[in-house]
Formats: sequence, C-alpha cells, structure tokens
Amino acid sequence: MPELPEVEVVCRGLETLLKGKILRSSHAFRADLRYPLPDFSVLHGAKLEKICRRSKYILMYFTCRDGEQRILCWHLGMTGQFHVLDDDVSAGSHEHVRFDFNDGCSLRYRDARRFGYANIFTDQTWLTSKWLKVLGPEPLLNHFSGAYLYQKCRQRKAAIKTFVMDASTVVGVGNIYASESLFLAGIHPKRAAGNISEKRIYCLVSAIQQTLQTAIKAGGSSISDFVKVDGKPGYFAHTFKVYGREGEACGHCDSKIQRITQSGRSTFYCSTCQR
Ligand SMILES: [Zn+2]
Repeated sequence: MPELPEVEVVCRGLETLLKGKILRSSHAFRADLRYPLPDFSVLHGAKLEKICRRSKYILMYFTCRDGEQRILCWHLGMTGQFHVLDDDVSAGSHEHVRFDFNDGCSLRYRDARRFGYANIFTDQTWLTSKWLKVLGPEPLLNHFSGAYLYQKCRQRKAAIKTFVMDASTVVGVGNIYASESLFLAGIHPKRAAGNISEKRIYCLVSAIQQTLQTAIKAGGSSISDFVKVDGKPGYFAHTFKVYGREGEACGHCDSKIQRITQSGRSTFYCSTCQR
C-alpha cells in the first residue's frame, strides 16, 4: 500500500510532468473504483495549476473554463498507480481512467485491486468534506510537534504504535514507518501512549519526521505495487532497520528482531533497544 512518502513522491513527479498543461479530454473505462467515479468532463479545457498532497490524498488544482477552481482529489487505495505516457500508447492492464492533455501526454490511472477513489471538489467543498474533517496534522509541518503529541497522548492507554498510526493523531504514519520510527526513538511499540516521558515523545516526533523525510528522499518504498510516475520503483525498502527483518540481528545490538501483531498489523522491533 502506498504510504505518505510514496504519495509525496508521486505528487512531485506529477507536478514536474503535468503542471501548466490543459486537460483536453478524459475517459473512464468503468463507472466506479472503490466508490462511483465523478464526472471528469467538468475539468475538460481546464488548466492544471498545481499538484500537492494532504495526508495520502493527491490534490490536483485546476482552473476551469468557467473561471472556477476545482480540485481533483485522488486516493491510490492499495494498488493505485499513475503513469504519464504519450496519448497514442494503448491502455495497459487494469487501466481504469485516462486524462489526455493538449500537448499529447496522457495521465493513466491503473489499479489492480480497485480500492482507489476520486472526487472533484471546489475549495469550499474540500475544506468541509468528510474526507478532510477526520485528518490530524501533517507530520512534516510545524503543527506536529513534541508539545502537540505529548498533550495529545495524555491519559491514553492505547499502544504507542497504534496511537501514532491513528490519522486523527497525525496523518501518514503508516505501518512501515511506525515500526521504523519507534525503533529510532528506542520506544517499545506496546508501551501505553500516556505512559511515555515528555522527552521521549519529543524524540519520537523527530524520529517520525526523520524517517519520512529519508523515505521521500529515497523515492518511496517498493515493497508493494507502488510504482513512481516514471515507472521506476522506489528503493527505501532496502534501508529498513526493523521492518520485515524478523529473526535478523538488530543493527545496534546482538538481539534478534521480533515480530508481533498489533491491531491486525505486523510490528517489528528490538526488545533490547526499545523500552
Ligand atoms: Zn537492538
């Protein structure tokens, strides 16, 4: 499943390749993915002004022919991928939507498991949408700080790993990056969130930010079906310190990396380094 760093990398790739282009036409090969698809024709003739990210939503800002700004908001689900190709390239397998631009390039959306979804908003309907309403702060922006997280986890009995993966706490700390960040901060994943010292919570915030930044820099991880817009897989997977390394020696001590299940997801950690 694409996590925040992968989505960030996709956004940067799409922005580089598509910013400033006019959408000529679009075609949806089916009526729905996870949910019914919107009517993309409202965007025909519109200029793609910018592409950015909120949590794992890709936001494409268009200025439409009627002067209105509209936001095409897209979630990649489990296996969604965008590819930018020439418009004469025929549809690949699991290709569900295509957007053709005025200069002959074509954005294709492929999704084998079809858990992705999309909708079109105005600035106003996006700000009040239920998609946005449930989201906590962005992990790489100032609002996510040690002070914020420490305040947020007071009295909380939930395991810290589950707590930081909750999007209402902070968005974008997925399963892989939660394990990696807790290792970096030396915090045991099962420790109750409300039972961790302020100093260690500050440490965890730095670890989360460092882990995500490193992943973005490396181009996102490749362990799922994620492929960057230029078709090359990311490579951060090779640098995981604990994730996917059950039974291997910890890089800091001689203990073996353990795997447990929390909220139905695998957690990897070192029982010596993490307390
Ligand atoms: Zn260790």
